[in-house]
Amino acid sequence: MENQIMKNAQLTAKSPAQQQSLVKLSEQIVFGGRELVIIGGPCAVESQGQMENVAQHLVNSVHGLRGGVYKPRTSPYAFQGMGEAGLEILGLVRSRYNLPVITEVMSISQIPTIATYADMLQVGSRNMQNFDLLKALGQVNKPILLKRGLAATIEEFVMAAEYILSHGNPDVVLCERGIRSFDDYTRNVLDLGAVAALKQITHLPVIVDPSHAVGKRELVAPMAKAAIACGADGLIIECHPEPEKSVSDARQALSLTEMVDLVESLKPIAASVGRNISTNIGVGTKLAPICLSAA
Ligand code: PEP
Ligand code: MN
Repeated sequence: MENQIMKNAQLTAKSPAQQQSLVKLSEQIVFGGRELVIIGGPCAVESQGQMENVAQHLVNSVHGLRGGVYKPRTSPYAFQGMGEAGLEILGLVRSRYNLPVITEVMSISQIPTIATYADMLQVGSRNMQNFDLLKALGQVNKPILLKRGLAATIEEFVMAAEYILSHGNPDVVLCERGIRSFDDYTRNVLDLGAVAALKQITHLPVIVDPSHAVGKRELVAPMAKAAIACGADGLIIECHPEPEKSVSDARQALSLTEMVDLVESLKPIAASVGRNISTNIGVGTKLAPICLSAA
């Protein structure tokens, strides 16, 4: 199986010729180097006030903001996201606070609009094997955050990344976000073994989403620490000005103060594994305006 992955993963496999890839979120923020990349923000964009509040609190602690505007919800009756109005909010907060933004793309038709506002496009777990979407993202001139499928093997995960690379986009960051198992005490099982394995077999940066992995806010910090300790290149963590009022994933949302404190507590762990978390990276350097470059 191991050899099979290496054989099929022509573009994603680590090799003497292709060592660690560096994927740029902005000119200053790069995944895969010594510097870790921390992304924070709510599960979903809910209002301009909410996102301004998040950005104001996190601007000196994180390197990018997250917030879904197209939400893959289990129930069709649950909040589906703000859509384009949410993208406008992300664009506004991005330039006001000089923070790159990441948001989920669920379908090919959403790509041009999302690429107009976001610095990085996220493929959610439920779409990891949406091969047409992956092929289309191969044509996009923006980095892609590819989340592991709910029940995807490491090989399937690597091959999903291979789709994007083989269609022309080398800028893929893998995200371990927990996989399904028999025990529902935690929402999923955070597979840190996969993080270590992916770092060894692929040259792509690998980050961890402890929020969706554990599903409970009190378990997010310990898993974030473990992720850094085992070699992750960064984290994506859900937080909210009023966590219990989050319209989605309220149970796993940290408060903004908890998020800031968590980032501080990660610094010595990063240092112990030869990595670094620099805050204030983007300060003083304006983000380049987003370009209309969906293709
Ligand atoms: C999310 O990031 O809000 C999300 C829906 O994540 P996942 O696709 O990992 O479930
Ligand atoms: Mn979520």
